Amino acid sequence: MSIIVTGATGSLGRFVIEGLLEKVPADRITAVVRSEEKAAGFAARGVKIAIADYNTPETFDGVFSAGDKVLLISSSEVDKGRVGQHKVVIDAAKAAGVALFAYTSAVGSLTAALADDHRGTEAAIVESGLPYVLLRNGWYNENYTEQLAPVLQYGAVTQAAGEGRVASAARADYAAAAVAVLTAEGHENTTYELTGDTAWSFADYAAELSRQTGKEIAYNAVSVETFTGILTGQAGLPGPLAAILGGVEASIEKGELAGISGDFFRLTGRPTTPIADSIAAALKA
Ligand code: NDP
Repeated sequence: MSIIVTGATGSLGRFVIEGLLEKVPADRITAVVRSEEKAAGFAARGVKIAIADYNTPETFDGVFSAGDKVLLISSSEVDKGRVGQHKVVIDAAKAAGVALFAYTSAVGSLTAALADDHRGTEAAIVESGLPYVLLRNGWYNENYTEQLAPVLQYGAVTQAAGEGRVASAARADYAAAAVAVLTAEGHENTTYELTGDTAWSFADYAAELSRQTGKEIAYNAVSVETFTGILTGQAGLPGPLAAILGGVEASIEKGELAGISGDFFRLTGRPTTPIADSIAAALKA
C-alpha cells in the first residue's frame, strides 16, 4: 500500500509530503508531479515519483494500485475545466481499486463561482463509489500574507469584503489535516470542514499589520467592481479570474468564510496558525 499525493510540488503538496515523511517510510509515499526536476528533492529522500498531468489521462496509467490511499490536490488551472481534470484522476483511482480517495475541496458554505468546480468534483467522487474523504479547506492565511508588497507600498489593505470576516488557517495546517487522514484508519466516506480557529476582519488584519510593521496601514474597503478593476489593471490578471476573485470578496462580505468548525482540532489535536503568526513569518521572509 502506498500513499499517493498529486500536486506534490505545489505549496500545499510540499507540506503534505513533509508531513508524511515524519510518519511513514519514504518508499511508501508517491509524489505525482508534472516536473521530475521540481521533485528531485523528494526523490533524493526516497519518495517515489510518478510523472502525470491532469490534462493527459494516459499519464495516470499504472500510477495507482489496489489498496493505495490517494490525495487529489485540486488543480490550480481554473481556466482548464477542473472537474474534467479531476475526473481523470478519479477514473484512474476507480479502475485501480484504491482504498481511500481524499480530495482538497472548498468549505461547504462558499457559494462563489470558485466553489463550482469543487462541488462538481465532490459529486463525481461520490458517484464513483470510491471510499472518499472530502477535506473542505477554508481560506489560506497566505492568500493575504504572500501579497504584502503592494500593501506595504501603499499603506493600505484593499479588499471588497466590507466588514466580512475570514476564518483562515495556514497551508501547513490544511496539510497536517490531510496527513492525519492519510495515515490513520476509519475516515472513509467522511467530510471535514477545515477552518481556522478565529475569524478576523480586514480592519483587524490591517491593524495587526500596523502593529507588526510600526507603519500606519489602513483597510481600504472598495466595491467588487473597483476590486476587479484593480486586479485586471494594476495586477494584470485576466478578466475571468478577476471576476472569480471578486465573487469570493462578495462571499466573504456575506460571512461565507467566517464559520469556525472544530474539525481541524479533532483531526490533529492542535490549534490552527493565527493570521498574526503568518504575517510575522511573511515579514521575516
Ligand atoms: P499551487 O499553485 O502551489 O499548486 C498547485 C499544484 O497543482 C502544483 O503542484 C501543480 O503542479 C499542480 N497542477 C496544476 N495543474 C496540473 C495539471 N494539469 N496536472 C497535474 N498537476 C497540476 O497551489 P497550493 O498548493 O497552494 O494549493 C493547492 C490547491 O488548492 C490549488 O491548486 C487550488 O486548487 C487550491 N487553492 C486553495 C486556496 C485556499 O485558500 N483554500 C488558495 C489557492 C488555491 P506544478 O508543481 O507542476 O506546477
